[in-house]
Amino acid sequence: MPDDTPLRLGELLIARGAIDDDGLTRALELQRSSQGDRLGAILIRLGLISEFTLLECLSAQLGFAVFAGDDLADAAPLIKQEHLQRQISRALAQRFSFALLPRKDSRPLLICRDPLDSGLREYLTTRQQFESVPECCLIAQRDFERLLAEVYRESTQGSGNQDLRRMAEDAPVVELVNGVLARANDKGASDVHIEPLEFGFTVRYRVDGQLQATEHYPRERFDAVVSRIKLISGLDISERRMTQDGRFSSRAAGIETDVRVSVIPAIFGESIVMRLLPMSQNKRFSLDGLGFEPDHLALFQSWMDLPDGIILVTGPTGSGKSTTLYAALSACDRERERILTVEDPVEYKIDGVTQFQVNSDIGFTFTAALRSILRHDPDTIMIGEIRDVDTARIAVQASLTGHRVLSTLHTNDSATAFLRLVDLGVEQFLVGATLRGVIAQRLVRKLCTHCSTPLDVRMLLPAHARASLQRLGIPEEQWHFRQAVGCSHCSDTGYRGRMAIYEMLSATERVRAALSKPSPSHMDLLAAIDADFRYLHEDGLLKAVRGQTSLEEVFAVGGSAISAQGH
Ligand SMILES: [Zn+2]
Repeated sequence: MPDDTPLRLGELLIARGAIDDDGLTRALELQRSSQGDRLGAILIRLGLISEFTLLECLSAQLGFAVFAGDDLADAAPLIKQEHLQRQISRALAQRFSFALLPRKDSRPLLICRDPLDSGLREYLTTRQQFESVPECCLIAQRDFERLLAEVYRESTQGSGNQDLRRMAEDAPVVELVNGVLARANDKGASDVHIEPLEFGFTVRYRVDGQLQATEHYPRERFDAVVSRIKLISGLDISERRMTQDGRFSSRAAGIETDVRVSVIPAIFGESIVMRLLPMSQNKRFSLDGLGFEPDHLALFQSWMDLPDGIILVTGPTGSGKSTTLYAALSACDRERERILTVEDPVEYKIDGVTQFQVNSDIGFTFTAALRSILRHDPDTIMIGEIRDVDTARIAVQASLTGHRVLSTLHTNDSATAFLRLVDLGVEQFLVGATLRGVIAQRLVRKLCTHCSTPLDVRMLLPAHARASLQRLGIPEEQWHFRQAVGCSHCSDTGYRGRMAIYEMLSATERVRAALSKPSPSHMDLLAAIDADFRYLHEDGLLKAVRGQTSLEEVFAVGGSAISAQGH
């Protein structure tokens, strides 16, 4: 909605003789000093109009119907169903003062107190993915409160709250949950999965990107364990039908860990994933040791040396993009530069960097947050992810006005990132003018140095790998491939830790020229690539040839990239 919305409401009321100029001026003044209160609410608070007048005015002038209190009892169960399906919590409905009433053969009817609320509009079009704001009708405050009370009335099924709470405090349950967290810590797990089965439940740990070590527990313990985890992460114990997200801190072996908890109802009960983010002070991000080869590191540095421009990191979820971005930010001169980030979620805190957490529930979206931080005079900004044209445009605008912009994008390879920005709706010449370079990356597991053994691949190596090695200029004498074996140091997996493999595409003259064609294709960009460019799997081969990772790892993660290039 445009910013002149309050004025329009004010003018409406004046036109109807409900208020005078004086009253409007007073209300607008008060609105400026308030924190985002709506004009209507302020006018009511000042006693200048009644809520009835406001509703009547909006209804007559804008054509909105008013939801009658008499329809409330019939509507509540339908709304309850709709809100359950759409995961609309009471807090959210309250925050934006709205409800969605399903209708046959058309989109749900929006019942709300303020149809002009930009936060509500943004929530509906982005989070609920309505193409536009649905048809709406107004509701008076008192009726809305009654409606919410009805829609979110506690269900009386299942065990009572008190029982759940008592079970969650039971010593064996507390021990079980603490034990799981301690083992996760020992293993260096990034996630813990707790999954209900028909006759029991399992706990699994994700280590180096792979789920391992399944523990089985009897079903009787399940409700108590779920309640325990909900209790410590500040979630609603009684809510068992909707997804919930929470967090808590745990301290084990002197390491403080931030644990993000996500609870999702599944057929046999609630499924839980805990993401472990160690807050250890030793966690230092550095571009060294991530897996950058010296030439790639120098190229990255040359992009970062420029005062403006966009640098994108691409790859699927879990490919280490955030770590690369954090390392890049850590490499900036944090004393002299103002570095701001907008993230969802903030995964790690970095000294000397001001980080903002997106919160769409209260309208602090990526776009809203970015618009605000650009007014905070940054040198470098990091945008957690470019997901839509609005974010992309802001990134371009920020770059054009002299800022360095780092962000991530969901594409498979580096060339596609250039085209994706165009697909999103950014003008081609602006992409060429602002994008400095794209990094595509994946993670591969590092071979355990205690047990890996040499591997003679001369007879086995696939033709495309052989061709790549030739292109990279690595003769057979320098092939030192190794293979995974397994020992006590690596829990018999043969691997320990991970490293990234990279593909880096600079926006060179030739790439920009390819981008300025009428409708550039992936092939056009690939044709413009320099001779020393390394594809993702080629960078992986460099690591495999030195015995740092195995060929299996490189082929597994580079698979899609290899086929995409038709090798
Ligand atoms: Zn080993």
